[in-house]
Amino acid sequence: MGFFDWLKGDKTDASDSQRSKSKRRRQAPTTHPITKIEQEALQLIIESARHAHPNEFAGALRAPHDTIDEIVIVPGTVQGATHAILQMHELPPDPYVVGTVHSHPSRTARPSQEDLQLFGQHGHTHIIIHEPYTRETWRCWNHRGEPVHLRVI
Ligand SMILES: [Zn+2]
Repeated sequence: MGFFDWLKGDKTDASDSQRSKSKRRRQAPTTHPITKIEQEALQLIIESARHAHPNEFAGALRAPHDTIDEIVIVPGTVQGATHAILQMHELPPDPYVVGTVHSHPSRTARPSQEDLQLFGQHGHTHIIIHEPYTRETWRCWNHRGEPVHLRVI
């Protein structure tokens, strides 16, 4: 079962016990509020976005507590996809994933309708970085598409 299915609740799950287990694992990490991101994590986002350009990259944000301290890059997204965030299912299940990050090879960090739909399925804290991919061109959103302030530490 992939990351995407795990977050969504896999409809192909054979047994009810498996399904409730995946539900518990999905809910637990998504409750704590995220207020900070480590510089190193932000730097990896910037570099990954630049590397993937003109394509998008996508990844998962890990935060054991209130700080995003790790980015798990979705494999293969640098090869290019119409919308990289759709490939979130490539990631293994991870209880500390609180949301997603992806890049926009454009001049806006505003989530698209598609982004908003996926945000709701992948946690509560989401980062979008746009061209030219600097410390000034990213924004954080909650699962409803409302801006969230993250402090860089
Ligand atoms: Zn997007």
